[in-house]
Amino acid sequence: MKLSKYRVEPGRGVSLGDWDTHDNGDWERQEAEERTSVLNARLEGLQELLYAEHRHKVLIVIQATDTGGKDGTIRHVFDKVNPQGVHVASFKKPTHTEIAHDYLWRVHAKTPGAGEITIFNRSHYEDVLVVRVHGLVDPLTWGRRYEHINDFERMLVEEGTTVLKFFLHISKDEQRERLQDRIDEPDKNWKFDLGDLGERELWSEYQAAFTTMLERTSTKQAPWHVIPADRKWFRNLLISEIVVDTLEGLDMSWPDPEPGIDGLVIE
Ligand code: AMP
Ligand code: MG
Repeated sequence: MKLSKYRVEPGRGVSLGDWDTHDNGDWERQEAEERTSVLNARLEGLQELLYAEHRHKVLIVIQATDTGGKDGTIRHVFDKVNPQGVHVASFKKPTHTEIAHDYLWRVHAKTPGAGEITIFNRSHYEDVLVVRVHGLVDPLTWGRRYEHINDFERMLVEEGTTVLKFFLHISKDEQRERLQDRIDEPDKNWKFDLGDLGERELWSEYQAAFTTMLERTSTKQAPWHVIPADRKWFRNLLISEIVVDTLEGLDMSWPDPEPGIDGLVIE
């Protein structure tokens, strides 16, 4: 699959309307699910190697509008990995302590250590998204953050972290259906948040904020991918492909055995 098609070229203008939310890359659902399951098994092996080698750090950032599929992506793409080496950090409305610090403080504390994969379910990007849309700080303040974020991510990369960023792109119609399901289906009621309706009214403001985020913070060292996410099975396939492809590119190897164990027989 041509993965570069979904990567946002650094410095290029972005028009989200040009990215088809319903794209399926010419895959049929069943084939895609089979392939995803093969990739997930490969991811399991790669993650074990990453953990054993204890050298690389991997940070996966997921951003999306409400109902965009952040939780489902994490559940499906990482279903086979060993929870020991994989962490999920979810960023909610900052606490009193968090808001008393700079906005990267809570984020930096959650970045992966050697041998770990950390998935950010929302991230420091909320500080140029919800914060911008709701005017939680003045435009001069959020406007400076794109450069801070690029510098912060460049530092992480230069210190040995691989950074992958996914924007899950759904249509406004798809969001309506997913919100309606959360009302109509009892086992989804818990996910329904009345506040999401107010956020939905700000759809175009959010799309504008996502657009600037993609334009200003897709860098060579930490690129954004726009994932067509109306079809969950294609979203899962594409993210699995990109994660596996990236880990395979890390050129990892098993650590050398302890000296002297060659031929050792346990009594
Ligand atoms: P959820 O992911 O549905 O549990 O919702 C988490 C909520 O926290 C969302 O409404 C986010 O917009 C909000 N949130 C996350 N980070 C920030 C932030 N830095 N400032 C304000 N709100 C935030
Ligand atoms: Mg929510």
